[in-house]
Amino acid sequence: MKINYKLFTLPIIVLLSLVYISFLFSSEIERLKSKIDNIYFGNFIPVHKLHIIKEEYNKIILDNKQYIKSKKIIINNWNYYNNQYKSEQERKVVKKIDNQVKKSFKKRNTQFYRYIIKQIDLLIQYEVESAELERKNFLEQYDKINNYLFYNQIFIITFIVIFILSIILVTVKNNNKMEYLVDKYKSDSITDGLTGLYNRKYFDNILDETIAVSKQNNWTSVFVMIDIDFFKQYNDTYGHDAGDIALKKVSSILDTLFNQEYDYVFRLGGEEFGIIVFDIDIKKLESRIQILQQSIASQKIQHIASKTNFLTLSMGVVAIDQNTYNLTRSTIYKLADKKLYQSKEHGRDQYTI
Ligand code: GH3
Ligand code: MG
Ligand code: MG
Repeated sequence: MKINYKLFTLPIIVLLSLVYISFLFSSEIERLKSKIDNIYFGNFIPVHKLHIIKEEYNKIILDNKQYIKSKKIIINNWNYYNNQYKSEQERKVVKKIDNQVKKSFKKRNTQFYRYIIKQIDLLIQYEVESAELERKNFLEQYDKINNYLFYNQIFIITFIVIFILSIILVTVKNNNKMEYLVDKYKSDSITDGLTGLYNRKYFDNILDETIAVSKQNNWTSVFVMIDIDFFKQYNDTYGHDAGDIALKKVSSILDTLFNQEYDYVFRLGGEEFGIIVFDIDIKKLESRIQILQQSIASQKIQHIASKTNFLTLSMGVVAIDQNTYNLTRSTIYKLADKKLYQSKEHGRDQYTI
């Protein structure tokens, strides 16, 4: 499977953003937690107010001149404390103390002030204890919510990752299918259906290229035109299907013998084939052609209607060199055809250069 790694850029950006947002979210929640915790415990207002009240009573006990000023402060702070939310039970207790505070300003008695201070101490103790309890509950609740959020984040991220990966998988699969079809179309369009060799259309391109590249590099390249001898009679004698099998046999031999990097084998049509070899010495080419003839002969493909009793090939060879660089593709083709005709004239089963 081919994977286009560019496809992963977007998902990775999305993933990193998600992780970053989660991190930001968690750290904000943590900050919020310490703030709330501070409110509960750091500057706990009811306790603060009660302490002020206690202090002012003490001031009055020490110096009666303070009475007017302290009374005012005590009433203000007490009203604040008294008006805060209380449960029913708390309300009962606080109401009693409220009455006593009011009474204290009528009685103006040191003993009674001390008694009230004791009551206020009890209230402070109670408030601190319930604040501690609240704080404990809050922290427990916080941990629960935090865990809940954490697992949800993990779940959402996993879900998104799986979702994105499945989209990538489908895209990659579709891409590969498309590529396969395009490749297949490309190769189909240059391949001959029966033999699997390159077709005539591709031959035209390659021959043009052979001429141009050979001229550029001052190479000698060759085009060999090959035609099966008495093939009409072969079909007439053995049937069209046997003819097809013989065509495939010849193709396969050509394909095996001319399989080097710059060898090209084509089916030009019917029982005609073409070979193009880039940059080759003519002597070397001749020996390769002779090997081809021996190879065909060794197959002993019976053909009673032919002169030799076996299937043979006739060939016309054209060298693409400084004498022919400036000829067109069709002129070179005609030249090869002419050479092939000479081979046929001279008795077939031979090549002419
Ligand atoms: P020559 O030695 O002069 O080349 O004679 P020939 O009979 O080979 O030449 P001719 O051009 O008269 O006949 C070619 C025959 O090739 C005719 C046709 O039936 C046969 N042929 C062409 N294409 C195919 C094919 O795809 N399958 C089969 N079985 N026969 C084919
Ligand atoms: Mg022919
Ligand atoms: Mg023929």
